[in-house]
Order: sequence, then structure tokens, then C-alpha cells
Amino acid sequence: MRTIKAKSILQKAGGNSDFWFGIDYNINLYKGCPHGCIYCDSRSECYGIDHFDEVRIKENEIAILNKELQSKKKKGVVGIGAMSDTYNPFEKELEITRQALKLLQFYHFGVSIDTKSDLVVRDIDILKQMKNVIVKLTVTTADDELSKKIEPHVCVSSKRFKAMKALSDEGIFTGILFTPILPFITDQEDNIKAVVRLSHEHGAKFIYSMFGVTLRTNQRNYYYQQLDRLFPMLKEKYQESFGNRYMCEIQNYPHLKQVFINECQKYGLLYKMEDIIAAYKLENEHIQLTFDL
Ligand code: SF4
Repeated sequence: MRTIKAKSILQKAGGNSDFWFGIDYNINLYKGCPHGCIYCDSRSECYGIDHFDEVRIKENEIAILNKELQSKKKKGVVGIGAMSDTYNPFEKELEITRQALKLLQFYHFGVSIDTKSDLVVRDIDILKQMKNVIVKLTVTTADDELSKKIEPHVCVSSKRFKAMKALSDEGIFTGILFTPILPFITDQEDNIKAVVRLSHEHGAKFIYSMFGVTLRTNQRNYYYQQLDRLFPMLKEKYQESFGNRYMCEIQNYPHLKQVFINECQKYGLLYKMEDIIAAYKLENEHIQLTFDL
């Protein structure tokens, strides 16, 4: 594996307090991701990551992170995994993410993890000792065979649901990132209902969705190549429906969004960003109060 130089690891997150799950900082411990999702946004030209499927690590990153966390006066929630899944197969041996979590715990930072890998359960022991923790497992389809096609090098959806159950059983605030929903591939009403039901059955507190897929330069080329390989004639349907649009919304969007909301309400799952942020931060306050009494 290649090692690259890095001056800084901890980045200030953009946006306001309602920004992506209320994160204050971002870290990407690996550059590149081998999970092979056909729709991956991180392949987009604007991020400038060449050979995205190749994983690289950053020289002395844990030492750099240690210094940066130590010097930060403002504590907050650190997002991990936004650009590259931090639980790639190399993490099993390298334990870079695990070391980073230990540092976050030591310096009293919270964490917001995005992953598709069930390796995250390995770190339950550390996550349980941290405050302001939210773990999101990404699931795009309830069908394991379809997940093998569109997310070929990471565990199938049913394993991700099981991982979420393991986290939830240990009291960790967890839920599903149901995004992207791919037009003509995963946007059936049955799939939406099944993903919400399975989320509920596996201990999710929330499910967050965006009703379509975004496509940009490079990412679109890769996605269309994969459509040609896996779903003949679908590329042409995309081109006809969306042209070069960035946001490719699912068909029948208003109806399916309402179906999603109805199902979430039926099972008592949070689905609005502001509610999810308030709930996991409040849960931490509650735990803190319980400890203090
Ligand atoms: S797991 Fe995430 S970062 Fe990795 S290929 Fe899939 S979408 Fe991209």
C-alpha cells in the first residue's frame, strides 16, 4: 500500500449546526476506497482523487491527529468516512480508525461514522465509552443480490443490518443512511418499505434518505460504464431522463417520499436531519445525567 504525505488530518466542517449530522470537524484517514460502489460520488472530478479504488494511508497521521486534537479549544463531533469508507479491508490489520477513535475518546470529542462495513462492530468497546456518538450504516437495497452488484466489494445489506443491530444492542445511537436511491434500480415502493421495516427490526433510531442520485463529471462516466455492464439499456434511459443534470431524482418522487415518511412514522423512526441531530445529542445528555446522579 502506498503512503502519502499529509500536513493536516482534522478539517473544520462547512455549514451550520444542522449540517450533515451536526458534525464540527471531518477526518479522512484513508485516501481511496476499494468497495467499488458503482455510484460513488468520491470519484467526481472536483475531488481530484485519481485511482479512487486504490487505498492510500497518510504518513504519521495518528501523530498529526493527536497534535491537532490536543490543540483544539472547541470540542465537537468529528465525522469519519465522508469521502472514503474508513472500515476498508486494510483497517482490520492496520487499526488506524481504531487508534483515531481512542484519541477522540481521550480528548472528549464525539464521532459521527458513515460506513457500509460490518467491521465497525469491532470498535463497539471504544464507541460505548464516548459521548456524542452516531453510527450510520449505508444501505441502498433490501436485496442482497442487488447489493452485490452495485456495491460489489463490501458486505451485503443483510450483514450491514446485523452490524447495526449489534451496535444498537450495546446502546449506541445508530441508524441507516438510505442513500442514494437509484432511479430505475432501487426506487421501487417495495424496496423503500422493506429498507424502512428492516431498519426498525434491527434497532435503528433513524433512517435518512435522499430521493435520487447525484452525478458529476468522472463519476457519471464510471456509473454509465457500470450500467452498460450490469443493466443493459439503462444508461440510455438515464440520458433521456436526466441529460447532464446533477440531481437525478427518482421517478414518482412525491408519492415515494410520502410512502417513506408514512413507513418511518409507522415504526417511530426519525427521518429529518434536525430531529436526528437533536436526538443523538440529547441522548448523550441523558446518559451524562444518569452518570452524574
Ligand atoms: S463505500 Fe462509500 S466511499 Fe467507498 S466506494 Fe462505496 S460510496 Fe464510495
